[in-house]
Amino acid sequence: MRPAQGGRTMRAAIFGGPGAITVGDRPYPVVVEPTDAVVRVALSSVCGTDVSPYRGESSFELGPIGHEFVGVVEDVGTDVRAITRGDLVIAPTAYSDGTCSHCRAGITSACVAGGFWTVGGIDGGQGEAVRVPFADATLVRVPGSDHSDETMRSLLTLAERGDAAAEVVLELSDGVGVDAALECVGTVQSFATAVAVTRPGGMVGYVGVPHGVEVPIGTMFLRNIGLRGGAAPVRTYIPELLDDVLEGRIDPGRVFEFETDLEGIAEAYAAMDERRAIKSLVRVGTV
Ligand SMILES: [Zn+2]
Repeated sequence: MRPAQGGRTMRAAIFGGPGAITVGDRPYPVVVEPTDAVVRVALSSVCGTDVSPYRGESSFELGPIGHEFVGVVEDVGTDVRAITRGDLVIAPTAYSDGTCSHCRAGITSACVAGGFWTVGGIDGGQGEAVRVPFADATLVRVPGSDHSDETMRSLLTLAERGDAAAEVVLELSDGVGVDAALECVGTVQSFATAVAVTRPGGMVGYVGVPHGVEVPIGTMFLRNIGLRGGAAPVRTYIPELLDDVLEGRIDPGRVFEFETDLEGIAEAYAAMDERRAIKSLVRVGTV
């Protein structure tokens, strides 16, 4: 962790182990590399991936947490061109350089120079500000201003992976099965269900982080079922979905069933843990 200039601090959610989310002080981020930006967070959200270590179902490094946020650019490094101070931006679940072979193929989540929020001293998204590496390639600028609260909530959902956003939609047809099943949870049971309802020759897509899942390769061989998925390359999809949100064709912000401010974030986790909310919105700052 790098020291903040002048000892300035910010408030940020801190993961302290299963069941323990607190809000503490962390160094306020500053531009370190010339390709960095500092983003002041307006809205953040709690992902199912955050709730998993909160429940003790997966491990997570103690410290800052959160990887879905929308905010305003506060500062940029000298090499940043496409993003400027005052821009409203969406941050994907991972940062990426936009130039490596994987990025050019659209799999920004596998960027060779990229990484995930909270890892290796990078700030988490559930805090007042975040240092964003490769700002030009990572951040997506949102055109316009004075967006409605409804639109802002939907913009935030573009930052997330499909595991919390998508509902499993299965249509059984006379026992034949579905052409394609989307497995969004990553549990043993949901994976088995997805394969079971897929017709011979069909395809299973999986976007939930797998926990203990074993691929039933024998069943899939006998029924010619294909499998494709993995970590969502969120950065690749945001530009495609941005217009749909801004023009009101889709309203994914409806997924938020609980909201609070940053100081109340422990309750945002509890609401999801206790299944009172599919997803929680955290209002960190203003636009
Ligand atoms: Zn890359």
